[in-house]
Amino acid sequence: MAREGSDDIQALIAQVARLPGLGPRSARRVVLALIRRRATQMTQLAALMARVAETSRECVRCGNIAEAELCPICADPGRANGELCVVESVADLWAMERGRAFPGRYHVLGGTLSALDEVGPDDLGIPRLLDRIAEENVTEVILALNATVEGQTTAHYIAEALEGGSVAVTGLAHGVPIGGELDFLDDGTISAALRARRRL
Ligand code: ZN
Repeated sequence: MAREGSDDIQALIAQVARLPGLGPRSARRVVLALIRRRATQMTQLAALMARVAETSRECVRCGNIAEAELCPICADPGRANGELCVVESVADLWAMERGRAFPGRYHVLGGTLSALDEVGPDDLGIPRLLDRIAEENVTEVILALNATVEGQTTAHYIAEALEGGSVAVTGLAHGVPIGGELDFLDDGTISAALRARRRL
């Protein structure tokens, strides 16, 4: 019977195919490309992966990826300015950091509330978030959750839990992206942008 590589190669393809954004077809292409470049790329990649697996962990405070108990943002006293930005994932935290516009600290939920998938407030560590807000003298909570039904449901839940307290709760504006053209936007984005209009 015809075979595509050894058992190990097959196992490698199966592992790569489980990664986000990749399926069996792209996994085969990735693995073949790596094997072709085994001397120049594959060995270094394997060593790097082993090292990152060994050294990376979750920041005990915010959930960011860290190499120590605290991530560099939590370890930086300059970031303790009273602003706490709540995001769904580490990828979202990194996206916010790429924007270089936010000077405060973060809290990574690791998902969104979902009745369907039985994800409740405890699963997302929302009680821990509320504790942090009280302990760290937070003055403003910025809910930078995705503009999806689940993201907005989660934002509403957190906003309600903080209602009546002394902390200001804000959300990111939804609207026209930088460089965006109106004609290409969906109706929901245009109406959200109109509602969030500001004086120039
Ligand atoms: Zn952290």
